[in-house]
Amino acid sequence: MDKSFWNRVKNKALLEDVSKGREVNWINENLKDTETAMQAINITMADIDDAEARLIRFAPFIQKVFPETASQNGLIESPLTEIPKMQKQLEEVYHTAIPGHLFLKQDSHLAISGSVKARGGIYEVLKHAEDLALEHGKIKLTDDYTVFASPKFKEFFGQFKIQVGSTGNLGLSIGIMSAALGFHVIVHMSADAKQWKKDLLRQRGAEVIEYADDYSKAVEVGRKNSDADPMSYFVDDENSVTLFLGYAVAAKRIQKQFAENGIVVDADHPLFVYIPCGVGGAPGGVTFGFKQFFGDNVHVFFLEPTQAPCMLVGMASGLQNEICVQDFGLSGQTHADGLAVGRASGFVGATINHILSGIFSLEDYHIYDLMRMLVDTEDIFIEPSACASFWGPIQLKSPEMQKYIKDNALTDKMQNAVHIPWATGGSLVPEEIRKEYMQTYLK
Ligand SMILES: *Cc1c(COP(=O)(O)O)cnc(C)c1O
Repeated sequence: MDKSFWNRVKNKALLEDVSKGREVNWINENLKDTETAMQAINITMADIDDAEARLIRFAPFIQKVFPETASQNGLIESPLTEIPKMQKQLEEVYHTAIPGHLFLKQDSHLAISGSVKARGGIYEVLKHAEDLALEHGKIKLTDDYTVFASPKFKEFFGQFKIQVGSTGNLGLSIGIMSAALGFHVIVHMSADAKQWKKDLLRQRGAEVIEYADDYSKAVEVGRKNSDADPMSYFVDDENSVTLFLGYAVAAKRIQKQFAENGIVVDADHPLFVYIPCGVGGAPGGVTFGFKQFFGDNVHVFFLEPTQAPCMLVGMASGLQNEICVQDFGLSGQTHADGLAVGRASGFVGATINHILSGIFSLEDYHIYDLMRMLVDTEDIFIEPSACASFWGPIQLKSPEMQKYIKDNALTDKMQNAVHIPWATGGSLVPEEIRKEYMQTYLK
């Protein structure tokens, strides 16, 4: 793109810093009160309820095929864990103050695919399978869905294809669940996808096609191949409302965990959620869900790598997916493999425009330091990209966050706050790769 877009961008000074690869904190000047903001979004609470009901219908099938979900009766849900030692260590090492309580949402430990993609990705495959089965008169909504595990159903789904482009974790979720149902599943993997993810997928029966290019290319070819085949369904990470709703269910389910942990969210007890962002679907869906349930009392921030801050450049400039990080002279390359995305989802950017509180960018070396800190203090391993989430609480001391807290009249409520960094992946990382990560120092 020629450089004339600079004449049309908002937040020019901030974006100049972004283009120099600097860490920035952007507070969303378009944030509105939740009620007003939601009127402009044509996805509703009823859609989240519908998604949750579908996951409940499939729970008996999931429990049967993935016995590790038995303890949760076939629901794929992750622990919410208080991490006070990490909180203290973050305060000390990063010279910050994190008033209130720090909890980790461990989507890193979601069953089946070990990342946040087990919410959206698996949900979309299940919805497609249900749609096909209904369309072909194979089931009624009231049936026992364990029939989806039968050889007859596997044979039926064997005539259909599912395709997806992925940097890794989405491919794992779509691939594993599609293969379990009997679909012919093709995962188009970008160059930055890790070898162990490709190996694991092939072992589960998915076809993996590798690209020398980045994520956008893998998506583009995947979409083209799929569109040319009437028996093929393409999971569109950039535009899928279905994926988005699968992620949004997280907010509905977390209410029970809040009750169990004595967590109150109201006008005097603010909730802060910090989520690493790639193309935007997972953090966008989670944000939408949280704003639906907790309204103005929840404040959601995204984290992105300084070389791939695609949602930041899209939203802060006001140009959304018209521009990509390469337009700003950035490489798009990062150690945070789940976040190596150059152009954000236009659908997500537009949907969260008035409900997201802000986006912070950070340099790659922090994520390894934070990963080691979490292992040392709490004995929890999550993948490096997921550790970007801790950059949120670290920034509480920043002038931008201090102003946000003041502007939102939160100053005297911060001691009641709950902070949730969203651990987006990690439990499937093989032991030898963990060791490698633990010994990676970029600075
Ligand atoms: C996919 C992913 C994200 C971000 O999700 P998007 O939908 O791409 O924004 C964050 N962390 C990890 C580990 C991921 O796999």
